[in-house]
Amino acid sequence: SSFLTPFEDALAGAGDLGRALIGRDRVRLAVTGLSRAGKTVFLTSLVANLLAAGQGARTLPAVEAAVGGRLRGARIVPAETQSTPRFDASGHLLALASDPPRWPERTEDLSTLEIALEIEPRSFLGKARGMLAGNRSVTLELLDYPGEWLLDLPMLNQSYADWSRETLARLRRGRRAQAAAAFLAFVDALPAGAPAEESLARQGFSLYRDALRTCRDTLGFRFLQPGRALNPGPRGEAPLLWFFPLPERVTGELAPLLRRRHEAYLDDQRSSFFDPFFRRFHRQAVLVDALGALHAGEEAFDDTAAALAAVAASLRGGLGLFDLLTGQGVRRVGFAATKADHVPSRSRDALLGLLGDLVGRDPAGPLDATTSVHAIAAIRCTEDDVATLEGRPVSVVRGVLMEGGVMRKVYPGEVPLRRPDAAFWEHAFFEMPVFQPPRLDGAGRAGIPHLGLDALLAQLIGDLL
Ligand code: GDP
Repeated sequence: SSFLTPFEDALAGAGDLGRALIGRDRVRLAVTGLSRAGKTVFLTSLVANLLAAGQGARTLPAVEAAVGGRLRGARIVPAETQSTPRFDASGHLLALASDPPRWPERTEDLSTLEIALEIEPRSFLGKARGMLAGNRSVTLELLDYPGEWLLDLPMLNQSYADWSRETLARLRRGRRAQAAAAFLAFVDALPAGAPAEESLARQGFSLYRDALRTCRDTLGFRFLQPGRALNPGPRGEAPLLWFFPLPERVTGELAPLLRRRHEAYLDDQRSSFFDPFFRRFHRQAVLVDALGALHAGEEAFDDTAAALAAVAASLRGGLGLFDLLTGQGVRRVGFAATKADHVPSRSRDALLGLLGDLVGRDPAGPLDATTSVHAIAAIRCTEDDVATLEGRPVSVVRGVLMEGGVMRKVYPGEVPLRRPDAAFWEHAFFEMPVFQPPRLDGAGRAGIPHLGLDALLAQLIGDLL
């Protein structure tokens, strides 16, 4: 079927005619985010809103427009014999529908879910076919994978020596150096002729992983590799993972052992994840908590920016040659700054500019179908409001705080239009409380309030529906 795919794609590009000829009605959308970006909430809202739209609720207007108002139904495809875990949309909706509403537990693993969309044919040919065959059913296949794994993409094109050098240089900078102090002391004390001893390799890996965890969990850093060191995935931990960056001066037998593991790890990620899952997918949503990164401060922000730039470059070029040869792989990427309901509408425009700057994409520039940027809130918890700050009116958001359950006006601070300079950080102020999700009518059957989820979806998959 890999021979058929470019042909199928060409035909699918020809609209209903193409689809009628090949009967291809499967759209594959992968979703991930730099960790804690809001992926679980995003997928839960997407599923609930699609199901509601299938019942006629006007909850995703841009998607409705993309299908010409012809969405006639949506349902979750019951589980069959899949070997990958299933995304627990209904469990997450139950959390949101509880009283008081709770945020769903975050998901850690790879999971999938299929939604069948019933769409009334639009063209004459489609209508004629529709009269014979009824509505067209398009299966939207969602793949949710750990954001940590996204950072394995830039590793695919790097040798162990290059990766070691860059990773150690990064670890030695700023607050990372404190978080990684034990690991750095360990590698710096290794003799040049360090032997390929199991206990030594295990100790190094375990110190390295502790450093990665501290960077992620207490400093809010995102440029952390390899992904499975932080998130081993459904297959658990295996010896190929037990590598870490090694200074160039160490040339003993330990070096080739770690190099072989690094190579084996990448081969394994390629053959067990990138090839079977990732490359089958047509579209990719990458979620980024850019506001959270602003809130976390200069170093965390710069780190997120660097991670994002590396990811954007790999999605553009890293798998590109392969794509040209086989016609497969991701060909549309939507980057979305999440939790945009934390700032009032004018700041959301700034957020869009900031994200565009980070991924090298001017939101006002010429339309580029392959990469787009968005500022979204998968679940909108606030309304815009005005407050007085030092005698002047300022735009704020109003919402119920999770802590205490009271309604508050929050002035979040200003969102810079592009990557902020040193002056910005001198007076940096950015407020980011946890808001309570809104109460849902009928467990979300009427949809979930959001900001821009529909525009993101329409841009990513609208042409395939
Ligand atoms: P994940 O680790 O990427 O799966 O992150 P989650 O989807 O679990 O989101 C983490 C937290 O971010 C949630 O528990 C919420 O507190 C917050 N969050 C996520 N999306 C939104 C949103 O659209 N609006 C607001 N206000 N908060 C959000």
